[in-house]
Amino acid sequence: MKTYPGLKCDHKVDFSKEIFVCKKCKRKINTQKLTIGSAQKGFEDFVNLDILRFPKVDVIHDLNNYPWPFKDNQFKVIHASHIIEHLDVNRAMKELHRITMKGGEIRIRVPHHSSPFKRLSHLYEGFNIETFTNHFYEGTIYADVEFKQLEVKVMLFGAKAYMKAKHLKLLNWFINLKGIQKIYERFFCYIMPSAEIHYKLTPLKGKKKRVV
Ligand SMILES: [Zn+2]
Repeated sequence: MKTYPGLKCDHKVDFSKEIFVCKKCKRKINTQKLTIGSAQKGFEDFVNLDILRFPKVDVIHDLNNYPWPFKDNQFKVIHASHIIEHLDVNRAMKELHRITMKGGEIRIRVPHHSSPFKRLSHLYEGFNIETFTNHFYEGTIYADVEFKQLEVKVMLFGAKAYMKAKHLKLLNWFINLKGIQKIYERFFCYIMPSAEIHYKLTPLKGKKKRVV
């Protein structure tokens, strides 16, 4: 396993406690919050998972191997930034559904389908505002699991650019207005491409309703 400088601690997170504090490295983690594919950008108080031992990574796991090493309904918040597109999306969503508690929130960031940042390692690059509502809706016959989409936003630029430029924020706000978002994506997104698309989803738990 390739290692990166930074975290030398090999702590094992105790999921029986809501707050886990490592006695050795003093990392304090909320065990109901998870980042998958955190790489170097792990959050301070989240359980950070990656395939490599970056600093702040608490669980080392290859997400192509199922099941992921967590029990059902473990997490209240899951952050998945630029990772789902590298996985079998259907399988990964089924796993996210399993490990997220009822009422929990899954935050997904992926490249928008108009994004020029294509990668050979992307298994799927077609993400649009209806990707999840078309496939994982209540009563779906396509998927094994159901989600409710709480929010979707197309993002013209990555987050860092917004911090500096107010006019970009304004433009981005405009293309996400109700009614405009769909028109932008249908007719204009290849004139003015979006770098990313952000989703907030909550799993629908309980008995799956099949619509026949
Ligand atoms: Zn530690």
